[in-house]
Amino acid sequence: MLSDLSYDEIIEYASGKGLPKFRGDQIFDAIYNGKQLEEVTNLSKETKDLIKNDYPDYIIRKKFISKDGTQKFIVEFYDGNIVECVLMKYKYGYSLCLSTQVGCRMGCKFCASTLNGLARNLSAGELLGQVLLINREIGGSKKERKITNIVLMGSGEPLDNYESVLKFLNLVCDEKGLNISERNISLSTCGIVPQIYALADEMLNITLTISLHATTDEKRREIMPIANKYSIKEIIEACKYYFEKTKRKIYFEYTLVKGVNDSNDDVKRLKTLLSGLMCHVNIIPLNEVKERTLKGTGRLAAYDFCEKLKSQGVSATVRRTMGEDIAGACGQLRNKILKDGI
Ligand code: SAH
Repeated sequence: MLSDLSYDEIIEYASGKGLPKFRGDQIFDAIYNGKQLEEVTNLSKETKDLIKNDYPDYIIRKKFISKDGTQKFIVEFYDGNIVECVLMKYKYGYSLCLSTQVGCRMGCKFCASTLNGLARNLSAGELLGQVLLINREIGGSKKERKITNIVLMGSGEPLDNYESVLKFLNLVCDEKGLNISERNISLSTCGIVPQIYALADEMLNITLTISLHATTDEKRREIMPIANKYSIKEIIEACKYYFEKTKRKIYFEYTLVKGVNDSNDDVKRLKTLLSGLMCHVNIIPLNEVKERTLKGTGRLAAYDFCEKLKSQGVSATVRRTMGEDIAGACGQLRNKILKDGI
């Protein structure tokens, strides 16, 4: 698919089809403006026929707008698979939360994305497609980009689709394309240690976020199967390496689950685990998933936990929840659609 290719590769592709360079530029612009092929007016029918099998085939299937202004999009790919993306408006611009896989195979006990397992990986071009389509939907274009920030925190585990994610990062930051700054991109992982080292070696300026959610391996294994493979200690070591290489502060996500990870001992252990690491903890009140039995602590308890952490000298904030009325949490909306239809 053409959105998997860089600018130079698209020009080369056009030339391979016997088209002059300016046609390559027009194809590139059409893709980066998020257009469907039939909407492109400056290409002839013959040219469109030449490229139609390679032109991106993804659409925004549905859009939901929350009372708080958060928007959620269902993007559908050529094979009918769907993913969800969440768009949040901030003072500085728009932040888009992307999905990296259709479904997920990590099996975290609190998460809706993984309920039906992994359907397939997304390609780099399909990751980029989510940005291009939604940028256009909110009035942006290649030249006037509206999306300023990207978080790889939707459905899927980005480091379980490493090659595509890396290629996507290169494409989306390319100055010939959307030219999004690496500093404005966050990647969230449940902690696949070898890929954290690999990513660190890429020396990108992106922010690494770790979904920690527990302070002992035993407890972590109860809620996150990946903890059977990698210990918290190994994850923290990998984070230290990431910081050494990139000098980027590490973020930790800590979803509070009632009676599982919210004790005073957890506060103390968290402090010990993170000491000596330049980091920040985001406390997330669990967004209860109806198919799951885990219970949230509620916002008050989350603020209490956060204050205790801060009094121990750990930098922490409670993440504000957005878009709850539109099934904002990971994978909730896709599951609802898979069940009830679109
Ligand atoms: N697989 C990646 C990215 C996707 S999840 C990861 O594990 O980081 C994005 C964040 O939302 C993760 O921190 C995840 O643990 C959290 N999350 C998932 N389901 C949630 C829920 N029901 N309530 C609160 N946070 C949730």
